[in-house]
Amino acid sequence: MKAYTALAEIQKGLAKGEVTVVQLVRHYLDQIEQKKDLNAFVHVFEQEALERAQEVDQRIAKGNAGKLAGMVLGIKDVLCYKDHPVQAASKILSGFESQFTATAIQRLIDEDVIIIGSLNCDEFAMGSTNEHSTYGPAKNADFPDCVPGGSSGGSAVAVQAGLCLASLGTDTGGSVRQPAAFCDVIGLKPTYSRISRYGLIAYASSFDTIGIFTKNIEDNALLLEIMAGKDDFDSTASQQPVPKYSQHTQWEGKARVAYLKETIEHEGLSPAIRAEMEQVLNRLREEGHHVEPVSFPLLDYVLPTYYILTTAEASSNLSRFDGVRYGYRAEAQNLDQMYTQTRSEGFGEEVIRRILLGTFVLSASYYDAYYTKAQKLRRLIQDSTREIFKQYDFILLPTTPTTAFELGKKLQSPIEMYLADLYTVQASVAGIPSISIPVGKDEQGKSIGLQVMADFFQEQKIFAFANELISLQKTHVNTL
Ligand code: GLN
Repeated sequence: MKAYTALAEIQKGLAKGEVTVVQLVRHYLDQIEQKKDLNAFVHVFEQEALERAQEVDQRIAKGNAGKLAGMVLGIKDVLCYKDHPVQAASKILSGFESQFTATAIQRLIDEDVIIIGSLNCDEFAMGSTNEHSTYGPAKNADFPDCVPGGSSGGSAVAVQAGLCLASLGTDTGGSVRQPAAFCDVIGLKPTYSRISRYGLIAYASSFDTIGIFTKNIEDNALLLEIMAGKDDFDSTASQQPVPKYSQHTQWEGKARVAYLKETIEHEGLSPAIRAEMEQVLNRLREEGHHVEPVSFPLLDYVLPTYYILTTAEASSNLSRFDGVRYGYRAEAQNLDQMYTQTRSEGFGEEVIRRILLGTFVLSASYYDAYYTKAQKLRRLIQDSTREIFKQYDFILLPTTPTTAFELGKKLQSPIEMYLADLYTVQASVAGIPSISIPVGKDEQGKSIGLQVMADFFQEQKIFAFANELISLQKTHVNTL
């Protein structure tokens, strides 16, 4: 079968009778089996996917198929899909099955998407490498000795390796954008509240977003268009109308682009990524876009602000896992012991570290010194980021300080691990949308990602400009 990388191509093939949805599903099932070693999928819904495919084929024949007919999708193991296992890659949820379906997923199903299985990730979405998973790490398909990034590592690898056409991840501080950069695919974190969080297992509720991995902008835009919008099950979901993102994905005119001096000059940034970033900026200038450096002195505060606030929220969100209501329960003599043992045995090292950190920053004697201060900083970071958008359409910055690194390299040093999020947390702290697109390769051939950020609810502009950047890169590569 032809290797399809875009829904439009697939739908053309379906219309001409070149391929059927059943054949597509068989193809992906086969790929999943052949590339099992990547450890991307944790559950494959084989039988069900084939049955659904048959139904979609019938609807296509009758001419009443949904917008996503032919799209085969994988979902991160933190998204609920009724009667299917969901574990957040944690032992504490072993054996647990979803009791309802996430709104975002239901909307996709209503348009005839096929959910082929669930994908590996860091436990409760805490991590940057997918190594903190009860299923073991997922591997980068292009460099199997290297991490795929995290926490949505499995979701990135699944698209990278062609195990499904697109996938859903979640992005609280970079968990879609960072693995997208490591795995040479596109990853979108929408504006906070753009997609309902109903049915997403919470990590840090005021940061969590559902994000999208694809190989092209059009598929990404279509998936966002279908999932976004108000939801009676999530009062924080925005009431803002949802534009037809997929119908306007080409950029017109000249853009005003800012880049943050501090990000380019940061000592942690690898020279290859700095060089790539500078090239992109130069090319934009040559094309007549307005490109300027802007100072963002708060950069060094963004990471601590993120880690104080998210651990605080996590310590509260994860208190529900007590051995009584969900999944794993330890044997013990009395109730107190049962709680303690269940949580000590059920949670992994990183999750325990964050619950402890979060409990500490929320404790009566330190609350003002850490939590209150971090809340103030969050507002400051949000305001000064949005101030930039008064004069510029976009902020461009690297997605990650380095390209994909070897498995195990940062596992012993949590601080080094947290530094991998240096450039992604700003959009998360500010709540604004951001996309990571692949723009080049380093000297070892590892992919480099670049982020485009814009103001609240400017996804439409982001998609169009991301497409512009992608075509600019392609023309450049072709003329070399
Ligand atoms: N790596 C970041 C963290 O560990 C981001 C996680 C995420 O976005 N879910 O918190």
